[in-house]
Amino acid sequence: MPKFKLEYIWLDGYTPVPNLRSKTQIKSFDEFPKLEELPNWGFDGSSTQQAEGRSSDCVLKPVAVFPDSTRLNGVLVMCEVMMPDGVTPHPTNTRATILDDPGTWFGFEQEYFLTQGGKPLGFPKDGYPAPQGPYYCGVGFNNVGDIARQIVEEHLDLCLEAGINHEGINAEVAKGQWEFQIFGMGSKKAADEVWVARYILNRVCESYGVDVEYHCKPLKGDWNGSGMHCNFSTTHMREVGGKEYFESLMAAFAKNVNEHIAVYGPDNHLRLTGHHETQSIDKFSYGVADRGASIRIPHSFVNNGYKGYLEDRRPNSQGDPYAIAGRVLKTISEVPTA
Ligand code: ADP
Ligand code: MN
Ligand code: MN
Ligand code: MN
Repeated sequence: MPKFKLEYIWLDGYTPVPNLRSKTQIKSFDEFPKLEELPNWGFDGSSTQQAEGRSSDCVLKPVAVFPDSTRLNGVLVMCEVMMPDGVTPHPTNTRATILDDPGTWFGFEQEYFLTQGGKPLGFPKDGYPAPQGPYYCGVGFNNVGDIARQIVEEHLDLCLEAGINHEGINAEVAKGQWEFQIFGMGSKKAADEVWVARYILNRVCESYGVDVEYHCKPLKGDWNGSGMHCNFSTTHMREVGGKEYFESLMAAFAKNVNEHIAVYGPDNHLRLTGHHETQSIDKFSYGVADRGASIRIPHSFVNNGYKGYLEDRRPNSQGDPYAIAGRVLKTISEVPTA
């Protein structure tokens, strides 16, 4: 029986942004293990701000499994953190806040900077490069630098080999800034895959001496910040929809502005300014094809009789997709569908 390297991945208890943690367990299986075959495991929560030193055990419960093509018999195991009883979610377990619904689909657009020595890749040693303009979907050394694309491509291949449902990648508006999009059917799927894709990206960057800067506004001045637009739809939105339901939904989003902003990532006031394709953080608005609105309504949504998906543009690059998905679904669940 081959020995598999099971990399158990979880989110720690740091605030406002959890860190990814992982450790390896070796186990024998006849073939690539199924989720149901993976045992719970434990870790020292006192080292991750998830427990006191005297009673420090936390439980790792596998929730999603992916092949890891960088290792012989490698397996990436995304986990939820549970209390010692193994069944009660730990307070830091934001995945447990997501209503389980196979009919809910999410698409996240993760933006991020690649940095070296604290500067975005492609920035000169001193000062700044030419103003943004040619970098978005750009090509050429002058626009994307030297190793960035290599990292981005290596990350994409590893994610696809892991079965992560990437929909695309692109160079973004600021120099050194990139995006990948992940789509998933089922309320937890895309969020699981964004966390694992972040994990893989962090790991790829290690060997390049490059860091991933997820902060939403790493550069002051006339440089775009990083978002993580959250595209969402439910079965009702796709199949029934209608203007009346849409307006009730937007009223619920308007009512819960603070609750949404609270989980849309730290320092978002620095990014949601009303400039650089954002609405300001203290306003809530929606509009067709409006990239300056809080929620953008795709043309197709209106053309199909207010059916389809919507894009919440407010979540930022450092947000926790579990907390974001959980909040979006909670607000949707407050709106009657009959
Ligand atoms: P843009 O940059 O113009 O906002 P992208 O192509 O980067 O557009 O992202 C659009 C996102 O919308 C993708 O992540 C895609 O998966 C997602 N999406 C498309 N259809 C749906 C749907 N029915 N429900 C949820 N998300 C969707
Ligand atoms: Mn995009
Ligand atoms: Mn983008
Ligand atoms: Mn978008």
